[in-house]
Amino acid sequence: MILIFFGPPGAGKGTQAKFVAEKLNIVHLSTGDILREQLLKKNKLSIELKNIMDSGQLVTDSILNNIIYDRLNEKDCFNGFILDGYPRTMDQAIFLNKTLQERNLAINYILDFIINEETIIKRIKARSIIENRGDDNEDVIKTRIANYYNATKPLSNFYKSELVSAYRIIDSNQEIQKLNTDILKIIKKH
Ligand code: ADP
Repeated sequence: MILIFFGPPGAGKGTQAKFVAEKLNIVHLSTGDILREQLLKKNKLSIELKNIMDSGQLVTDSILNNIIYDRLNEKDCFNGFILDGYPRTMDQAIFLNKTLQERNLAINYILDFIINEETIIKRIKARSIIENRGDDNEDVIKTRIANYYNATKPLSNFYKSELVSAYRIIDSNQEIQKLNTDILKIIKKH
């Protein structure tokens, strides 16, 4: 099973991805988590990455594409995976298509998490108290939301028309439990 969880920051993709990955015994690939692991290394690249991420900007496509290319080759992904936070630009979407084609893989579902902006800000602020991330203050949240609408949201239309039968909208203004149920219902139809 190959799933893409798509949507703005704070939509709850990570929470849902963790739950579904465990339920289906597939890998949860959060590019945000993978990048944050890199930050612990304290080398030249990690300092550069930290500056980009803390300002709410996107890390370059080539870095992300390389991470995904290598990660999908690892054994634990053979059973299936959830992409959470990737692709985020058209270049990444095209690269992903090519990579999956090369490996004879197809996307089963793309879940497009829709949520209003007020709820996003409320949720991220609540999370910031727990997680202490460098990019969870109000100005940076606004930059991340703006980047989402400029660079990432246009991919919704791309997937809606490219992969009609895989594309589903998820109303993520709802509670976590209700979202769990809705998502499992969609996936179980498979
Ligand atoms: P959120 O979706 O809540 O903003 P993430 O944990 O998914 O948080 O990502 C945190 C940061 O990591 C992003 O703001 C961005 O700088 C970087 N990042 C993650 N995934 C990508 C990607 N696919 N392309 C470019 N940058 C990315």
